[in-house]
Amino acid sequence: MAKAAFYEGNKTFTVESVTISPPKDDEVQIRVAYCGICGTDVHVYHGHMDARVGMHRVIGHEMSGVIHAVGKNVEDASAGDRVVVRPLDHCGECSTCKRGLKHICENLKFLGLDTNGAFQEYWSVPAHTIHHLPDGVSLAHAAIVEPLAVACHDINRAQVVAGEDVLVIGGGPIGMLIAMVAREVGTHVTICEVDEKRIAYAKNLGFNARNAKDADLVEQLRNDTDGRGFNAIFDTSGVQAGVDLFTQVSATQARICMVAIHTTKPTIDLFKFFWQELELLGARVYEDTDFEYAIRLLSEGKVNPDDVITNKHPLDDIQSAFIPPKDLSMKTLIAVNPEIN
Ligand SMILES: [Zn+2]
Ligand SMILES: [Zn+2]
Repeated sequence: MAKAAFYEGNKTFTVESVTISPPKDDEVQIRVAYCGICGTDVHVYHGHMDARVGMHRVIGHEMSGVIHAVGKNVEDASAGDRVVVRPLDHCGECSTCKRGLKHICENLKFLGLDTNGAFQEYWSVPAHTIHHLPDGVSLAHAAIVEPLAVACHDINRAQVVAGEDVLVIGGGPIGMLIAMVAREVGTHVTICEVDEKRIAYAKNLGFNARNAKDADLVEQLRNDTDGRGFNAIFDTSGVQAGVDLFTQVSATQARICMVAIHTTKPTIDLFKFFWQELELLGARVYEDTDFEYAIRLLSEGKVNPDDVITNKHPLDDIQSAFIPPKDLSMKTLIAVNPEIN
């Protein structure tokens, strides 16, 4: 028997004992070490995704672990391998898959939302979703690979190059990771955020950080770039104010990368897109290469996961892990089997 945390609706998880069934022929079964709480998991907790995930669902996808068993068709993985999972299962048949864009497959299944996820001790996934970890990366740190891969994908989409001025709107975990990758590329990074604690946190990590509530915000940001505006802007805020801001502080031919999920249709100053020849790019999840990039950043010490991991809770405490702490929290990990680190 093994433990699994089930989402039961109404902000409730129950931790239950389940039987461990063997992986299917094309699957690997992973003993989960750590699994981070994603913004998406918080949406599930608040009941916003009940129609999609249903009840009695194990969620969680920002995980690391060790392979416990492999299905009989699986070739390049064996028990004992340390891995993370790219939680995307594509159909391989649709026109988007056929164009090589399987990460935005028209029938994409997100593991841990559309299927059971990693807030459990043993998780079976399609073998094509795993990435092996180098020895130097601990399993606790590797739980950050998935959100870091989001940041890597965003940076790749916006084709950021050294020397550019980059603005990140929103200083949550994804915004902070984008800032870290952008800095590693060699850009000058500014973070714009409303929460005082997050502003202080960003400054502490060495970033230029501005308070989005300041009346002269636009002027401050323009001064930060000597009046040129930002070459690449990442909107992680998902609010109208963020959309208003990015056309006010863009450089000519800036790339604006939409990372946030907007739930209402914002008003956009399209005149600025004409006048400055701006580009607006969508960025959703990640490709295999973004996962490899994220793993490389960790193994080379270019991004320090301890800069974003602020809390850890055992699986039995998953319920309290979803209650926001009074102090600042960036990334919370559920330590499912911390002893296998
Ligand atoms: Zn995530
Ligand atoms: Zn497809």
